[in-house]
Amino acid sequence: MAGVADDFGRARRRMVVEHVLERGISDPAVLEAMARVPRHLFVEEALEPRAYGDWSLPIGFGQTISHPFTVALLVAALDLRSGDRVLEVGTGSGYQAAVLGQLAANVLSIERVSGLAARARRNLDRARIYNVAVRVGDGTLGWRGEAPFDAVIVAAGGPEIPRPLVEQLAPGGRLVVPVGRTDEQVLVRVTAGSTGPVTEVLGDCRFVPLVGRFGFGA
Ligand code: SAH
Repeated sequence: MAGVADDFGRARRRMVVEHVLERGISDPAVLEAMARVPRHLFVEEALEPRAYGDWSLPIGFGQTISHPFTVALLVAALDLRSGDRVLEVGTGSGYQAAVLGQLAANVLSIERVSGLAARARRNLDRARIYNVAVRVGDGTLGWRGEAPFDAVIVAAGGPEIPRPLVEQLAPGGRLVVPVGRTDEQVLVRVTAGSTGPVTEVLGDCRFVPLVGRFGFGA
C-alpha cells in the first residue's frame, strides 16, 4: 500500500482538491486513492517538484504521464469494486496502474515499450504497490490467458474500439477507451450487458496514440 507520510503530502492533497474534486469528480474512493499514491515517484527526479501540477509530464520514449484530472476521469468511469480484476493498456509511468491498484483486487497492465515497462515496475516497487503486474506487449489484443476482466482501461487513443478488449470483458464488465484521430478523441465506455455490449460517449479527450494491431499502425 502506498505511503502517506512524505514531503509531498500537502501538494498531493491540494492536487486532489483543486484538479480533481473542484473539476467535478467527487467519487470518494477515487479521491482517496489519488491522495494515497505518491505521484512524484512516477516521474524522473528532476521533475518531482512539478509532479502534482495540472499537467502531463514527459516520461521518456516520447510518452507522458497523464494529467491528474485525466486519470481521475478514466478511473471514475470504471466504477470499480474492491474485488475487481482490471486490465490496463498503456502502463506508461505506472501511475494510473497504482491508482487502480488502490481500488481493485488486481491489475494487469500491458505496455508496448519495454523500457517504460521496466521503469514502471521500478516506480511501483518504490511506491510499494504489489497488486499490479506489468507485461510487455500489444495491449490492443488484451490478454486472453488472463481474461475475463471486470474492467479494462486504455490510456492511449486509437481509431476504433479494439474488439478483443470487448470480448475479454466479464458479464457486467466496463471498458473505457479513447477513440478517434491521433490529435483528438472521444472517451467511450462499453458495458458488457446481458443483451450485448452497450456503448456510451463520455466526452472529448486527447491522448497519445494507441499503436498496435487494433490501434494505429506501428
Ligand atoms: N497511464 C499512464 C500514461 C500512459 S501514456 C501513466 O499513468 O503514466 C500511454 C502509454 O500507452 C504509453 O506508454 C505508450 O507506449 C502505451 N501504448 C500505446 N499503444 C500501446 C499498445 N498497443 N499496447 C500497450 N501500450 C501501448
